[in-house]
Amino acid sequence: MSVEVRPEQREIVGLVRDFVEREIIPVVHQLDHDDEYPTQIVAKMKELGFFGFAIPEQYGGSGLDFETYAMCCEEIARGWMSVTGVINTHFIVSYLVEQFGTDEQKQRFLPKLATGEMHGGFSMSEPNCGSDVQAIETRARRDGDDYVINGTKMWATNGEHSTVVATLVKTDPDAKPTWKGMSCILAEKTYDGFRSTKRIEKLGYKGVETTELVFEDNRQPATNLLGGVEGEGFKQMMAAIELGRVNVAARGVGVAQRAFELSIEYAQQRHAFGVPIAKHQAIQLKLADMATNITAARLMTQMAARKKDAGERADVECGMAKLFATETCFETVAEAMRIHGGYGFSKEYQVERLYRDAPMLVIGEGTNEIQKLIIARGLLERYKI
Ligand SMILES: Cc1cc2nc3c(=O)[nH]c(=O)nc-3n(C[C@H](O)[C@H](O)[C@H](O)COP(=O)(O)OP(=O)(O)OC[C@H]3O[C@@H](n4cnc5c(N)ncnc54)[C@H](O)[C@@H]3O)c2cc1C
Repeated sequence: MSVEVRPEQREIVGLVRDFVEREIIPVVHQLDHDDEYPTQIVAKMKELGFFGFAIPEQYGGSGLDFETYAMCCEEIARGWMSVTGVINTHFIVSYLVEQFGTDEQKQRFLPKLATGEMHGGFSMSEPNCGSDVQAIETRARRDGDDYVINGTKMWATNGEHSTVVATLVKTDPDAKPTWKGMSCILAEKTYDGFRSTKRIEKLGYKGVETTELVFEDNRQPATNLLGGVEGEGFKQMMAAIELGRVNVAARGVGVAQRAFELSIEYAQQRHAFGVPIAKHQAIQLKLADMATNITAARLMTQMAARKKDAGERADVECGMAKLFATETCFETVAEAMRIHGGYGFSKEYQVERLYRDAPMLVIGEGTNEIQKLIIARGLLERYKI
């Protein structure tokens, strides 16, 4: 069920696959059930350069293109979706700095992000808004050489472990249209008044923490304003999140792939009515649908990543890939549970974890309802009469 793969991609993706087989799959069950942060896995990923995968070589990274990075994400999610959570907000911050940062910001942040010495988080959502990004209330006021930030952010993946958080704020709350008054600040935890507070208890996506972030008269140097110009934050964040959607799609493919692999193995081992259940046509239909949809999702993800790599407009393709791959994942894990029968409902089996992880993908990085609006808006522009 593979897509077209270049030789250099095969090498790096193979390396990631080996890592997942060796370091993640044997421990994922326990870590998930204990809701424990994968400290050793993260340390090894830093050692092996995973944190610098998509950062240009001149700053100490590997300079992978988005397509290859997405393939790596799929492999990691196949092992444990939470581990992709550890590096995806980091990837988004690296992208923001590389794409929109000043030269000084690139020099200051990228080498440390590449080694993992700095860990990136990404924060738009607030207690009162997620989809409606322009309704954020967190405010940054310029005061001399600093910005003074006040407000509360919500749902910050890596909220505790991140050291620098790309944070969307309002620098001009009266701006019309609203998005013109929004900016992105690379907020560092080293400055007083910025801390992660409440850890949110979740259904799945265990191990990686999701927290509230509080800014109380927090002073960040003005040199941490992304790109050095106010009013660009909304556009910068939307560009980054579009890329984030490709990664969420890749995660969906990885989780679904694992569910399929476990199901096709189980179907050949479990007997009912004197034969392996794989001999029953009802089970075969499920396996065929799973594999077909996963293959389509993988191809859509690859297509969206390639468009981004080519520097083309890809809002429709990224939205479609995210929508289709995560819905496929959602359906596939449910079918995997049915194939496993009662055992699928048992905490002893891996399918139970996949079932708890999948729903996050249809919500995060913009809900799938919002994806449909983005796709429709893009289509109406393309097909305007
Ligand atoms: C585990 C987890 C980790 C997350 N990590 C991060 C993170 O690191 N950083 C970050 O910034 N955010 C993060 N989020 C937040 C996530 O991006 C939001 O939850 C998501 O954007 C939805 O926002 P909301 O939860 O406020 O839902 P709401 O916006 O309140 O939406 C509620 C429902 O209404 C629907 N809806 C809203 N508006 C419309 C509309 N115009 N048309 C049709 N339907 C609509 C939505 O689709 C949804 O079904 C995370 C969320 C989760 C669950």
